[in-house]
Amino acid sequence: MPTSREDEFQTTTLAPGLYIVATPIGNLEDITLRALRVLRQADLIACEDTRHTQKLLNHFEIKIPTQSYHEHNEAARARELVERVAAGERVALVSDAGMPGISDPGERVIRAAVERGLNVVAIPGPSALVTALVASGLPTETFRFVGFLPARSGERRSVLESLASVPETLVFYEAPHRIADMLHDVENVFGPDRRIVIARELTKVHEEFVRGSVSEVLAEFGRRDAARGEMTVIVAGKSKIQQAQSPKRNLVERIHELMTSESLAEKDALKQAAREFGLSKSEAYREWQRKKQATGTRARGTAKQPQ
Ligand code: SAM
Repeated sequence: MPTSREDEFQTTTLAPGLYIVATPIGNLEDITLRALRVLRQADLIACEDTRHTQKLLNHFEIKIPTQSYHEHNEAARARELVERVAAGERVALVSDAGMPGISDPGERVIRAAVERGLNVVAIPGPSALVTALVASGLPTETFRFVGFLPARSGERRSVLESLASVPETLVFYEAPHRIADMLHDVENVFGPDRRIVIARELTKVHEEFVRGSVSEVLAEFGRRDAARGEMTVIVAGKSKIQQAQSPKRNLVERIHELMTSESLAEKDALKQAAREFGLSKSEAYREWQRKKQATGTRARGTAKQPQ
């Protein structure tokens, strides 16, 4: 059984193997050309939900037999699928949306195929976790994908407690009907000032990012019915909040320090402090203005609202 990609590129037919194919998380334009070719050339498409995938296949006029592969028949189906690949077939594995195996079925059949020494090929494409993370504006250098938290509040809180000091950015998936409970638990365990981004309806018409502290995002959710649609939640890691106890106060102190000890002009101090705190220039500006108004301090320098 070949394990190099040469066969795939040198011939018009696909080499036998298990192909893990990412599919759109909303916008059908996000399917890749390679994903379409693999789906068209497969002998069988193993789907999380055959009816759901059939709509995608109909849209792209792909007429390949499908078979269900989901959490309830995973063990038995994994054996069958591996036998088919071992017999020389091309099996494409898809989930309802995004990358199979990421909070979706797939891991078991993939591991079984790897253990059997079969050809396993991932066809990259959309996944909500990466899409949400990169657009969140929170640090991306290191991050931890948590996926779904437990549905029960007690268990959810203990998982959150175990994550409270983690320095990496945290990425969660959550169902819309649990989002409010989750945010309340995040606020209780991580504190109201932790920065958070809700990426909602990614790649769809109503795509939206709700950004702010946990308490600001909760207030926003209370004002309107934002708890609809698919949501990925990104939470800043602990290191982003050495600010932790009171980020805004420290921000203001830092601006003041830069202006006094380092003699920076107000606008340069604002810019530098905003960068250090992972805030936008306008967020830093607003907080600085609020503080000046509260203390009656007159502006030093001529910082204008950043555009
Ligand atoms: N395998 C998928 C992937 O690679 O993204 C994830 C499947 S998981 C069962 C579904 C969860 O992913 C949703 O509950 C939501 O948290 C997130 N998600 C999926 N599509 C999304 C979208 N368009 N916008 C925001 N989050 C999305």
